[in-house]
Amino acid sequence: MTLENKVALVTGAGRGIGKGIATALAREGCHVALADINLTNAEQTAKEIAKLGVKTLPLKADISKSVEVDRMVSDTLAHFGQLDIAVNNAGIISIKSVNELTEEDWDTVNNVNAKGVFLCCKAEMKVMQASGGGRIINIASIAGKEGFPDLAHYCASKFAVVGFTNSLAKELKRSGITVNAICPGIVPTAMWYGPDGLAERWKLEGETMEESWQRHQDLLIPQGEGQTPEDMGQLAVYLANAEHVTGQAINVDGGFTFH
Ligand code: NAD
Repeated sequence: MTLENKVALVTGAGRGIGKGIATALAREGCHVALADINLTNAEQTAKEIAKLGVKTLPLKADISKSVEVDRMVSDTLAHFGQLDIAVNNAGIISIKSVNELTEEDWDTVNNVNAKGVFLCCKAEMKVMQASGGGRIINIASIAGKEGFPDLAHYCASKFAVVGFTNSLAKELKRSGITVNAICPGIVPTAMWYGPDGLAERWKLEGETMEESWQRHQDLLIPQGEGQTPEDMGQLAVYLANAEHVTGQAINVDGGFTFH
């Protein structure tokens, strides 16, 4: 176990990629605070992860609100006495062309995905600066590297995460804190595969959602299949250990994109 007795805070840990990353960290012996806007889901994740023999703390927090973010970080510190790893994963999507997009749509997505990551990093780095080091891992997207139709506002929010991550890594030079981003490709969570997800939106006439999903995997992903929350967990464990990797935005996308 490579992270024994370390403490991690994972946002959006109630399901999907956040839950997968929290589980991977726990398998390495890390205690985890599990934050989500949906407390019931965070509590469920905490219950499941506690079976791995680590300590868990479910927390309710909306990462787009600085008061709630500050409370999430101070509660984590008060409970565990340390914060070594922060995974800023919580995010939302909405699927609209720029013609359909309203000012409110833009603000909603960017307030969670971009501003939320900023607020979390700011609160977490204060704790890590005081303790002399840490690992910050932001969950961006391949939509933070290139554009996609119907997702301009989401892409803008994820490009922001990539730029912010690289800038913060440079700002935190010689602090012992590394700052990196993971860029998932297509992970068939609710975000992709749910009733309002992309597979539904990009369905051809007469196609089922399963057929749409299969066609997109064949078309877009050289390896021919989507990724899993566990794939993201593997990279998170690597970044949580790595001392000399910082300022990077690493794709886990089956070869979908290059840079
Ligand atoms: P998901 O919808 O399954 O899970 C997101 C979690 O974040 C949920 O538990 C939700 O309750 C929580 N959340 C939403 N808004 C929140 C807020 N304001 N404060 C706190 N928690 C909040 O999505 P996912 O697929 O697991 O996505 C996780 C991250 O990965 C997101 O940042 C997403 O943009 C990114 N991502 C996902 C994919 C994919 O294909 N699924 C691809 C690239 C990037």
